[in-house]
Parts: sequence; structure tokens; C-alpha cells
Amino acid sequence: MSRHQARKRFGQNFLVDAQVINQIASLFDNTVLDEHTLIEIGPGRGALTEALLRNNQALTAVELDKDLIPILQTKFSHHRQFELYQGDALRADFSELSKGLPLRLVGNLPYNVATPLIFILLENIENIIDMHFMLQWEVVARLCAKPGDAHFGQLSLVVQNLCETRAMFNVPPSAFSPAPKVESGFIALTPRAEPLVKKELHGGFNKIVKISFMHRRKTLRNNLKGILTEQQIADVGIDPGARAETLNIENYAALAELTA
Ligand code: SAM
Repeated sequence: MSRHQARKRFGQNFLVDAQVINQIASLFDNTVLDEHTLIEIGPGRGALTEALLRNNQALTAVELDKDLIPILQTKFSHHRQFELYQGDALRADFSELSKGLPLRLVGNLPYNVATPLIFILLENIENIIDMHFMLQWEVVARLCAKPGDAHFGQLSLVVQNLCETRAMFNVPPSAFSPAPKVESGFIALTPRAEPLVKKELHGGFNKIVKISFMHRRKTLRNNLKGILTEQQIADVGIDPGARAETLNIENYAALAELTA
């Protein structure tokens, strides 16, 4: 057993539930070598890493905590197909790590890193096959929410424009050590062949979505004041008195077109 203590500042909640670990690893059981590069973000002490390596899967791991590197090297350096990078996944060069192959990403992510990391990865989306992440349950709910849901918002729209999102299972705090204060969820994000909103509208779409949700309790007419008139909003078939969370992605695309 290592003497490494879990560090809060690195969001370290290590998976200890064998069933959850196997459930995640089994998603990668039938993958073919040399067709993609599998990257694990934040291997920690290697609980998931070990399960992922069981089928001689090639795996590249990116870990920020320097003190975990010798532990991971001792455990896994005998695997010819294992590569370890010490560094911040938020600054990693994913095109270099991919070695020219499409990427699959997996990780029990540190919760403070999850959302910025997903946004960085979305910038490389053409090269990504899929992403499977353990996140705070609430973030999974926001990523998967549909119009009208309490969790529907900017994150739902911006990510769902580019990816299909699927909540796979919930994970209780007891599956981790130390146990986090919140429930977790495991999510699959699969990039769409084509985004739902035309590429040339993405700048306007992201801006309109952000402003529309600026004050959740205000109506669209009020949030968009100074950008679109009430008449313009009504002319594309949207009620200016509606709240942002009731509109769907096509509605936001129509509003973005007005600002293009
Ligand atoms: N995968 C391990 C498990 O399930 O037991 C550890 C998961 S723990 C929630 C998150 C891991 O990500 C920790 O090992 C932490 O040191 C690492 N980490 C934190 N911030 C990181 C970053 N910016 N880049 C890469 N790894 C990071």
C-alpha cells in the first residue's frame, strides 16, 4: 500500500469499488489496437488504469500529481503499451499525445477540472472518437438535460450541439476513497458527425446562449435587450416572454442567425 495521501487540491477521490471499476473498463474490452489512442486523464493510484490495461490495451495516462508518478511507474512500467505523462491535462497537447490516431478519452476526473477540460477537448473534436468520464452527478445532469429540465442551460446547449451525451450510471460517494461530498455520474460523450448548428453560426450561437441564460429568472426579451428586439424574436416564432430554459437548440440557432 502506498503512503501517498489523497490531495484535495488535485481533486483526489480514488475509486475503490471493483464493480464500478470493471463496469468502466469493460467499455474498452473489445477495442482494436492501433486504431485509436486511449488516454486516461488523472490515473491517480491506478485503480482504473490497472483494469484498462488488462487486455493489453495500449494506454497513455496524464497525471498532474508528481508524487503519484513513481507509484504508477512501479505498477505499470512493465506494460509495453503503457505511457505516462506528468503534467496538467488542461495544458496537454492532445494532437501530440494522439500519435496521429483518433482519440478515445476516459477518466475519473477531478471535479474542478472537468468542465474546462471538456471545453478544451471540444476544440479537438474532429480527432475524438468518444469520451467517457466520471463527473459530479450535477454536471452529468446539466450535460444531458433537455429543454424544460431544471438543469438545462448553457453547458447542455454548447456541448449537445457538438456531441451526443448519455448518462450511463450514477455512482455513490462510497465508491471512492476519500468519499466525495456529492453523488457522481458516469457519462459518454460522442462527437456528432456534424454539429446541430451550422459551423458559421457557432460564434453567434455561443454568444446568444450565454446571454440568454445570464439571468435565469428573466424573460428572453429582457436578457436579449440591446441585442435583439422583441419583434425580431417573435418573427422567428419564439415567444419573447419565454424563459431561456424552454427553448430548444433549433430556436437558439434561429436567434443566432438573426445576429449573423
Ligand atoms: N483515476 C483515479 C481513480 O479513479 O482512482 C484517480 C481519480 S481522482 C478523482 C483525479 C485524478 O486526477 C487525481 O489523480 C489527480 O491528481 C489528477 N489530476 C488533478 N488535476 C489534474 C490535471 N489538471 N491534469 C491531470 N491530472 C489531474
